Amino acid sequence: MMNEAVVSMINDQIEHEFFSAYLYLSMAAYFESKSLSGFARWMRLQADEEREHAMKFFDFLIDRGARVSLHAISQPQAEWTSVLDVFEHSLQHEQKVTSLINSIYEKAVQEKDYPTQVMLHWFIDEQVEEEKNVGQIVDMLRMAEDRQAALLNLDYHVGKRSE
Ligand code: MG
Repeated sequence: MMNEAVVSMINDQIEHEFFSAYLYLSMAAYFESKSLSGFARWMRLQADEEREHAMKFFDFLIDRGARVSLHAISQPQAEWTSVLDVFEHSLQHEQKVTSLINSIYEKAVQEKDYPTQVMLHWFIDEQVEEEKNVGQIVDMLRMAEDRQAALLNLDYHVGKRSE
């Protein structure tokens, strides 16, 4: 039997991952409205990844014989002031997700729940990658500042993301 507090935190995390997908989809819609199709494509792929994260937690609970409980997903923000504003928000969001995953890990250690710790290693690695990728885009956008040509070039470059 899984520890109930760990199950509850993973059910909360399923909601956070689906909310992440919703937030990135909202960011994709914002970029589409500005005709920035490269940034929009990047955000759509990001949203797909977040749904996969949610499903990894979903399947893990099922594999362990625990009950999945789906929560309501909040309405995501829809407007931002600039491309940089969107990616800074995305970076802050990933930092928050990292701290949530760390909290589940801490609980799993406390409860001696070894399978959950092993499963979370993948997510801990993934968060390093997420923060690195978004952080690089934030850095490039800061270099571009308000130069439209540089921004369009970045839209093209970021849109080359393959998966
Ligand atoms: Mg995620």
